[in-house]
Amino acid sequence: MSQTLVHFVSHDYAGITRARTFPEQRLESNLKKGLCWTPANLALNPFGSIVENPWGASGDLIMMPDRDSEVCVSGDDSTSPLRYFHTDFLNMDGSPWEACPRQYLKRQVAGLAELGIKAIASFEHEFMFTDIQVPAPCFSLEAARSEEQLCSLIVAALIEAGVDPEMCIPEYAARQFEVTCSPAQALKAADRAVNVREVVREICRRQGRRVSFSPVSSLNPGTNGVHVHVSLWSEDDLPLTYDPGRPGQLSELASHFSAGVLEHMNALTAITAPGVVSYQRLRPNSWSAAYACIGQQNREASIRIAPIAHLDGNDAARQANIEYRAADALASPHLVLGAILAAGIDGIKRKLAMPELVNTNPSSIPASEHARFGLRALPADLDEALQELAADEVIKSGLGAALFDCYQAIKKSEIREMNNKDEKEVRDIYSAVY
Ligand code: GLU
Ligand code: MG
Repeated sequence: MSQTLVHFVSHDYAGITRARTFPEQRLESNLKKGLCWTPANLALNPFGSIVENPWGASGDLIMMPDRDSEVCVSGDDSTSPLRYFHTDFLNMDGSPWEACPRQYLKRQVAGLAELGIKAIASFEHEFMFTDIQVPAPCFSLEAARSEEQLCSLIVAALIEAGVDPEMCIPEYAARQFEVTCSPAQALKAADRAVNVREVVREICRRQGRRVSFSPVSSLNPGTNGVHVHVSLWSEDDLPLTYDPGRPGQLSELASHFSAGVLEHMNALTAITAPGVVSYQRLRPNSWSAAYACIGQQNREASIRIAPIAHLDGNDAARQANIEYRAADALASPHLVLGAILAAGIDGIKRKLAMPELVNTNPSSIPASEHARFGLRALPADLDEALQELAADEVIKSGLGAALFDCYQAIKKSEIREMNNKDEKEVRDIYSAVY
């Protein structure tokens, strides 16, 4: 006889979902009073070391579950169900703990609400089934059918987990697949991004399969991105992103928002492309993002204005959204979306003008024309990205001192641990964790 277990989880600065596990019979009481957590655990780097941090051996936090965030995936004959709740970290007096990643996103959502706006978002995940022996042609029916048994289990589990998957498709690179899901309110979208990763891993574990979300895996030349789609809405659900008469068909509000994201993009990469290996992905001509720029339907642009299908019955205004492409699955979705919103809010408040759109390959634009497009090379490595973050007062102060200091320490430890390793070794190490 076994007892069903439930987990309270927190997806941390290192992009790893940490858990506290207890018997189901304690669920009602734990939902009310939460569980304990040690602040210094937030200073774990991806490779298991606790780095220097503001808390040391002292202090305690309450890990308080969000009842609305429950995820449940039924078990089968040989596996127990997967059941967990996302949590917020609270101080022992019940007040929000400033350095909590979910609280960080909530603060940005509140900042947007002060302007009468809400964000709807969706995360697209690419990943590789790394144990495929003979990859089928990219985008092919053969690739889809070869993995249909696994993908249908993944899709069923995602539906049960409340993720509302839209597609599970074979992608361009060998062994690569992609899951997209429907847009949701910001906090739910970020929770869902974690759920996509954990549910895909769960089903692969059950089936004895191997999967990697690392931006560059050991095997393949292709790259795994996480593309974050964002649209702006009024509090009473009117779409605010679209204006057919303006550049890129972006409303004035969405143009300011996008210009803010562009302005802070080099600092954002420290959060959205947060591993040493991430910079093996952010290279020109890989449909990821090597330059900070805004483009319409341009897959080399780090901010891509997504296409709108003008068909009968389609409301263009409700489809309009921008896609942030410089993110990967090493990053915390809560920090990623929070940072994008913080940058966008700054753009709205300062009424930043959107530069000319880049609708060609940004690598082909001569340096003399970069200013016109607001074009800048994104950081070449994590160290450069961290320096950009440290120099960006808006993004840095929004994170709060403790989160910023701990985050920097984790990332610097990753740089130290990858020092003197060649690109392949770095890919192997990250692929083993993510
Ligand atoms: N695999 C590309 C990336 O790393 C994205 C390809 C696509 O546009 O779907 O971001
Ligand atoms: Mg894709």
